[in-house]
Amino acid sequence: MRKKESSAIEKLDKITNLAIKRGFFWPTAEIYGGKAGFYSYGHLGKSVKNKFESLWRSHFIKEGENFYEIESSAILPEPVFVASGHLEHFNDPLIECKTCHFRFRADQLLEDQGIKTADMTIEEMSKVIMDKRLKCPKCNSWHLSEAKWFNMMFPVPLGAVGVKDMAYLTPETAQAAYLAFKREFEATRKRLPLGIAIIGKAFRNEISPRQLFFRLREFTQAELQIFFDPDELDKAEKWNEISRYKLILQPQGEKTQEISCNDAHKKIEIPQFYAYHMALVQKFYLEKLGIPKSKFRFRELGENERAFYNKIHWDIELDLETLGGFKEVAGIHYRTDHDLLGHEKHSKEKLHVFWNNKSFIPHVLELSFGVDRNVWALLDIFYKEELKNERTIFTFGKTIAPIDVAVFPLVSREGMPKKALEVYNMLKKETSLSCFYDETDSIGRRYRRQDEIGTPYCITIDSQTMKDGTVTIRERDSMKQKRVKIEKLKEELMKN
Ligand code: ATP
Repeated sequence: MRKKESSAIEKLDKITNLAIKRGFFWPTAEIYGGKAGFYSYGHLGKSVKNKFESLWRSHFIKEGENFYEIESSAILPEPVFVASGHLEHFNDPLIECKTCHFRFRADQLLEDQGIKTADMTIEEMSKVIMDKRLKCPKCNSWHLSEAKWFNMMFPVPLGAVGVKDMAYLTPETAQAAYLAFKREFEATRKRLPLGIAIIGKAFRNEISPRQLFFRLREFTQAELQIFFDPDELDKAEKWNEISRYKLILQPQGEKTQEISCNDAHKKIEIPQFYAYHMALVQKFYLEKLGIPKSKFRFRELGENERAFYNKIHWDIELDLETLGGFKEVAGIHYRTDHDLLGHEKHSKEKLHVFWNNKSFIPHVLELSFGVDRNVWALLDIFYKEELKNERTIFTFGKTIAPIDVAVFPLVSREGMPKKALEVYNMLKKETSLSCFYDETDSIGRRYRRQDEIGTPYCITIDSQTMKDGTVTIRERDSMKQKRVKIEKLKEELMKN
């Protein structure tokens, strides 16, 4: 194994062990051995996930003047997926080992050997696997079936009528937004662009769930569908604000480059409406989440890689050491009128709108984020080891850290625990900060434990507190301490 690969596996194991031990996540139904593709969040993971979702809400939904969040059912009736094309097309290429009956994805087997599959048909994949005599990843047998399509949706027969009343767990939140479009358009005074956001569960019966949060069978998506007039694809109301902002782009077949929105528009022909939303997404990653520039890029997908209805498709990729390089965490998809047109045709419900003096089916620009993949990316990117591996820290930004502040009595006597609990309760009740109280072990170990989960501030109540009502605030990254009066504590913590 190469050095880079083994250090990636080592880091992945360290983060996973820490995450399981400290309460970020663990395999669902762990005491029964778990099931591949299902993970549960503990209190720390759920806090990071909640914070990611609220940052996402405030950045993307508040951005649009006519943007709203809705909620829908995760089980949708079969005709929805006939119309959307999922029943026919939402397939992965499946291979079965004829010796051990292990089932896995043909494209992943090839990609693991460094063979690009984006342009291959299913027959070509089978041929390359035969020609190269690739083996079953589980038992090493050469005796493999041909690749065949496998539909990834989970069927849910409803009630007692069985297959006659078929429904499916939704594989993306997007379809629910399309079903809600007509109602929302009417309820919001019939204006475009209209943004409908859903943060909800998606379910995919992945053949080979793996790489932790990267290929789950049940996961959370944060998706924003923006319905707009296609004649305005090349307009963006706030273009002047971002026209000189530099996007980090990897266009098809080219190297990654930094290029202004203006140039992306003129030289790469990215429409203004699309480029504007790319800038918005990049700002979310760099400015709100604090992702270093070197770890972020947009990658353009070629015609064979993207869904046939996506006219323009750039993925957002982050460089993740634990997963061996840049990986997709989100995508911007120009889905045209494909979805609404399909639903109009199959439901017979008119989904045309009257706007800008004409009647038409709105087009959709979709911003689609996998929340769990992003949570893993944050753990990967902000994990650090210092002082010759003596100190492990998550250097999360303050908006993402699962615990904002920990409160400790220096020792468990001289009235310090009582005072520390008073401070803890005051912060908990009178601020929106998430707080944690700890009085076990030495102060040094308590600091280390908070560093390990990324807590930005630790407050210690010591003998001087008992004399003059001041406490120490210790900052995670610099480990510097300063004294402040208890009355000034809230103000001090909130201003950072
Ligand atoms: P991939 O190519 O990795 O299978 P995709 O292109 O099919 O993903 P989309 O359908 O565009 O993914 O879904 C939008 C987002 O949802 C992705 O960018 C990703 O963050 C997330 N996502 C998709 N599939 C999974 C999964 N099985 N587990 C976790 N997150 C997922």
